[in-house]
Amino acid sequence: MPGQSFNELLENVHLRLKDPAPQMNFDVIVIGMGSMGSSACYYLAKQGFKVLGLEQFDIPHSYGSHTGQSRLIRKAYGEDTRYVPLLQKAYKNWKELEEETGEQVYFQTGLAYFGSRENPFFETIRQSAQDYDIQLNQLTSEESKKQFPQFNLPDGHQKLFEPDAGFLTSERCILLYIRQALSKGAVIRTNEKVTDWRYAQGMVNVKTTAGNYSAKKLIITTGAWAGKTVPEWSDLFRVTRQVLAWVEPKNPESFRLGSLPCWYMEENGFDFYGFPMLEQEIFGGPAGLKVALHYPGMKVSDPDQVDRHTGSSDEKVLIDFLEKYLPGSYSRTVELKTCLYTYSPDENFVIDHLPGFDGNVIFSGGFSGHGFKFASAVGELLAEMAESGKTSPAAAFLAGNRFK
Ligand SMILES: Cc1cc2nc3c(=O)[nH]c(=O)nc-3n(C[C@H](O)[C@H](O)[C@H](O)COP(=O)(O)OP(=O)(O)OC[C@H]3O[C@@H](n4cnc5c(N)ncnc54)[C@H](O)[C@@H]3O)c2cc1C
Repeated sequence: MPGQSFNELLENVHLRLKDPAPQMNFDVIVIGMGSMGSSACYYLAKQGFKVLGLEQFDIPHSYGSHTGQSRLIRKAYGEDTRYVPLLQKAYKNWKELEEETGEQVYFQTGLAYFGSRENPFFETIRQSAQDYDIQLNQLTSEESKKQFPQFNLPDGHQKLFEPDAGFLTSERCILLYIRQALSKGAVIRTNEKVTDWRYAQGMVNVKTTAGNYSAKKLIITTGAWAGKTVPEWSDLFRVTRQVLAWVEPKNPESFRLGSLPCWYMEENGFDFYGFPMLEQEIFGGPAGLKVALHYPGMKVSDPDQVDRHTGSSDEKVLIDFLEKYLPGSYSRTVELKTCLYTYSPDENFVIDHLPGFDGNVIFSGGFSGHGFKFASAVGELLAEMAESGKTSPAAAFLAGNRFK
């Protein structure tokens, strides 16, 4: 279990973020202290770089892609087998963060996958498991009923269970990376938005709402704001508004951490997923059973102008699903939250040096709806790219020039 309550950790980090030293020159500047940027700052500070992290809001916050308490982590990857080496690195690095901080961030609940026979996602899950020797259990209907009595499953569905999967405490992970980066000498400035950056004569100059800074290298990890930070790529990324729901079950005991695994279920081409109920004090809010639909939501033309209101149409699809497939899981809605996905044209991530800046400007983005679990590996990768000027072979398939 995590050591400090969520509010204690938050207060502790916010105290350390107060009044950062007034320095202007750095080895590396990282824009965006969210999922990837907080991890990059940590690895850069650990490698001895003089690093500045800039965030336009508080850390963490609800306007980007990391809000909502938890994120699934799994290794038998259904999106593409090429992600598995990065995932192996990510698992190792999350464990190292736990060892260094004494805080648990990965909760191994296992992940139950349910879906129709034709679903190609399941084929790739099996392929990843086979290629990389990942434990994946194929369950019969009887086994699945016994193991997961909470679910009322359609007869013909495939049922798989990945034991070494579960969830990460996303906001805690970010806070811990920030806390560790600060303790290793990083300077982190919050509520300071980058308004412009320029590269000239081997130096990067960054202008914010509060000042000007310079560095030898720049790392851009601005999530849904990628198109605004790299104007040349303003048309490359597509941002969508997603909705997460927390509900109070009729029978909470069956749905708590320890009783319910993380789960994913495809129904008629729509992918629903969810988590066990977590204690708000430890994990941060909201309280309740979390459920969401992994499907591109409404397109957002400007991440600064998102409709954050949630209404009955956002809620209905999730409640209908719960009432049909998880009997007893719904008595009332506790909270709905919006969150942003950022897609590249082929929906894979982009991790690369930006062309035209002598290898001194590094970009990571397009993490869509499945990037968080990689943050521990991506942060290290970005720090290595800043040091060596080279891209790791494990991330070669994510190079930006594939869109030329
Ligand atoms: C509803 C939902 C569910 C998800 N579920 C999962 C899951 O189960 N498993 C999983 O692995 N992934 C999941 N994801 C995906 C994952 O959360 C994202 O891929 C990941 O958080 C993206 O990280 P990021 O660093 O690119 O963006 P963010 O974490 O949003 O960080 C970007 C940061 O840059 C800052 N920024 C932007 N512009 C500026 C500027 N000009 N100046 C200063 N700061 C700036 C932003 O404020 C923000 O803090 C989910 C995402 C959503 C929305």
